[in-house]
Amino acid sequence: MTDYRRLRVALLGAGAVGSQVASLLRRHGDELADRAGATLELVGIAVRDLDAPRETDLPKELFTTDAESLIVGADIVIELMGGIEPARTYLLQAINSGADVVTANKALLATHGPEIFDAADQVGAQVYYEAAAAGAIPIIRPLRDSLAGDRVQRIMGIVNGTTNYILDRMDKEGAEFADVLADAQALGYAEADPTADVEGYDAAQKAAILASLAFHTAVPLDAVHREGITRIDKAMMDAARHAGYVVKLLAVCERIADNGGAAGEAISVRVYPALVDSEHPLATVHGANNAVFVQAEAAGNLMFYGAGAGGVQTASAVLGDVVSAARRHIAGGVGVGESTRANLPVVDIGRVTTRYQITLEVDDQAGVLATVAGILSDGRVSIATVEQTVAGEDADIARLVIGTHKAREQDLSETVERLAASGVVERVVSVLRVEGD
Ligand code: NAP
Repeated sequence: MTDYRRLRVALLGAGAVGSQVASLLRRHGDELADRAGATLELVGIAVRDLDAPRETDLPKELFTTDAESLIVGADIVIELMGGIEPARTYLLQAINSGADVVTANKALLATHGPEIFDAADQVGAQVYYEAAAAGAIPIIRPLRDSLAGDRVQRIMGIVNGTTNYILDRMDKEGAEFADVLADAQALGYAEADPTADVEGYDAAQKAAILASLAFHTAVPLDAVHREGITRIDKAMMDAARHAGYVVKLLAVCERIADNGGAAGEAISVRVYPALVDSEHPLATVHGANNAVFVQAEAAGNLMFYGAGAGGVQTASAVLGDVVSAARRHIAGGVGVGESTRANLPVVDIGRVTTRYQITLEVDDQAGVLATVAGILSDGRVSIATVEQTVAGEDADIARLVIGTHKAREQDLSETVERLAASGVVERVVSVLRVEGD
């Protein structure tokens, strides 16, 4: 066996991901050493509770509740505790003591990323976070390295497995949101408190991370427009299917060529349920899987697909980072900092243009369609398709499903308000964006 230099690896957290990382690190130690060019010595694992039951069989003597002491002298620190504090303090301590750090903590990076990256820059350390967006799927390194010579135009990601699982089952089974959510909770696909997933907070954190990388701009979390899936019901799913679409919770990160008349480019970062053409590659992403569809100027369309979560799957991405950190440590030199030079402004959702599908219940009388068309045209919303059907039992009410050409979000929402107040529209059933052309 080659006599490699030993690198001290400290692990913070031994939950779903951490326990798998520790186990794989020990099981495949020799192979990883050959790939890294260094022996990765797991020197300890910090947890909250030494007596908590663990998924994997790890020697008791590795465990400690003293994370601070464990970090001292470590070459690589892997943070898999989650949450903001004390994870932030420990990562900063690790960076300032000369370690390279690996983290899967999207919540921390989306809120304190610049602080952590600046700290690493100051000392020439590197922060690795492949597992922080879309779990096992390699997407951080492709954006950071493989596409560094290209210009990313747009990313559309299904980056939250829980919501994709719920929407997929609603679509396949014709079920209602609340029923599928309850079932998903019973099966362990959704948390007891599902807010972070179903309201789009988790996807927004990942969108901020992906957009920052893709557009070389520090995107703060509060610049990400966020809507969840709780208002999606069976009727919307049926209407979407009928029109040749599926509903997906998308994280859309987009370069906007003309910054609303101001000089230069801008970006838009948004999370919402959107209609995706059933022929689009993202429509084929089923169950709890994730996928990230990247459109780049020279490379064209790329799609990255796989498991967006899961302990052992996520551990794969973490260990890839550990090997990269070890190679860098052996090679020496300063880390490659985050590229934020482009510093593009993030536009408000009102300035974004997309296509829409508007579903209205209207009085079934002569001239109503002309009135609706007139209001849309006055509001600079151009109609692409209209379908009229009977709405339920009531023969006096017709249902109009209007597909629009690209329109500005602000124009669209003002126009929908005018439609609602027009006297001919009984009810605005739904307004959904159409993404993916
Ligand atoms: P988890 O199962 O909740 O495990 C957290 C671990 O951190 C536990 O071992 C816990 O100790 C330890 N811990 C928490 N607070 C601590 C503290 N103050 N001091 C010392 N140890 C502390 O979390 P997870 O699911 O493995 O997730 C870890 C990270 O990976 C999170 O940032 C998460 O967002 C990210 N991630 C997870 C997945 C996934 O599928 N689970 C996917 C992608 C990214 P005890 O065991 O003693 O309680």
